Amino acid sequence: MPQHFILCNAVVSDGQNFILENVNIEIENGLIRKITNHNKPINGAIPSYNLRGRLVLPGLLNPHHHLYSALATGLAPIGPTDTFQKILENLWWHLDQTLDEESIYYSALNGLMQSIKYGVTTVFDHHASMKSVSGSLSIIEKVYRELGLKGLLCYEISDRMGMDSVQEQIDENLNFFQSHQTDASLKGLLGMHANFTLSKDSLEKIAQAKPSNLPIHIHCGEAYSDFEYCVENGFAGPVHRLNEFGLLDAQSLLIHCIHLSETDYQILEKVQPIVVSNPESNANNNVGMMNLEKIPNYLLGTDGMTGNILGSMRSHFLLRNGNLQSGLDSLFAKPSRLIQRYFPNAGRLAEGFRADLAVTDYVPVTHVSLENLFYHLVFGIQGKPMFMTIADGKILYENGKITQIDEAAANDAIRNAAHTLHRRYYE
Ligand SMILES: [Zn+2]
Repeated sequence: MPQHFILCNAVVSDGQNFILENVNIEIENGLIRKITNHNKPINGAIPSYNLRGRLVLPGLLNPHHHLYSALATGLAPIGPTDTFQKILENLWWHLDQTLDEESIYYSALNGLMQSIKYGVTTVFDHHASMKSVSGSLSIIEKVYRELGLKGLLCYEISDRMGMDSVQEQIDENLNFFQSHQTDASLKGLLGMHANFTLSKDSLEKIAQAKPSNLPIHIHCGEAYSDFEYCVENGFAGPVHRLNEFGLLDAQSLLIHCIHLSETDYQILEKVQPIVVSNPESNANNNVGMMNLEKIPNYLLGTDGMTGNILGSMRSHFLLRNGNLQSGLDSLFAKPSRLIQRYFPNAGRLAEGFRADLAVTDYVPVTHVSLENLFYHLVFGIQGKPMFMTIADGKILYENGKITQIDEAAANDAIRNAAHTLHRRYYE
């Protein structure tokens, strides 16, 4: 595969500042070298791909995924699922206790292959495998490296398996964070499941162990029960509780933020952490929707439902009856800043930056502007797979195929691993 190539005849946008029609993007040694007009003659010695007017976007970010759930399709819950708590107990927590080293690996492989197909080049994973904690993040790391993706990894700490396990889960986060501080593609966060699965003792332990430059990544106010737990324990809500334990800062990733108090909203306003909404998951779990008037600035994640961020944006738009103010900001401006915080030379579709690109399989036949780009994404691309996905100048996906590994062999192995996992799940 060429290290130096040109994508020709594209419509290119960074989703924030510009849209260029009829341009070429030259990629060399992993970086975007030049963006030029297509009418200029190109060096015939450099391999080129004619995109025939397809729309090219920055590689997408999924800021909240659960790769551990990527083999769950078709699994029946082992009991009732009429409340959020029961959905967790009878499906997700039972699944994560069934995962072993093999199924962690193939689950991540399946989830990341799907992400690549939809143009996602950076994935923040929130992992749980309660009977295989130590070393689990390294197994997932291996898959990221094999496929060529960037990401932030963490283990979602909870009390479910007792205090000895809490310590093991804290250590898994810290070990990964410490050993990846200068890594160019993978870094760590401090994963926590949610307030309602973390006691006072656990939060104290976590706060004590947390380096100041290690942000938390936690489900926050996803269901009413999380809010209620915090209130019963003397706090104004889940954001307030995290703040009182000294865990909250501007780099914290707070996921969902649906059931919050006025005090919680005031703290969000003051601290300005990163909020990630997951509309497809929220609809699936019947937990309500985030208040967009209270929280106008947020990113969009998938919460393990899918690897497809543009498809999730389409769902989000429709679930809100077409009333969305900041769709492009959630898809591009905010992700760009967040990616650059961890990987300073990535996250921007610009000359000199790492070449992470989502080449959509969509040729706009009507005029594209920054004002109407969002509608081209929702109604034009419609959440379909990409034409090509490029990360660090490598083509990871092309002509419907994953390129970095033998996809057919991988799918066979994934199927076998899923079969074994499902058998053990029902045992
Ligand atoms: Zn989640």
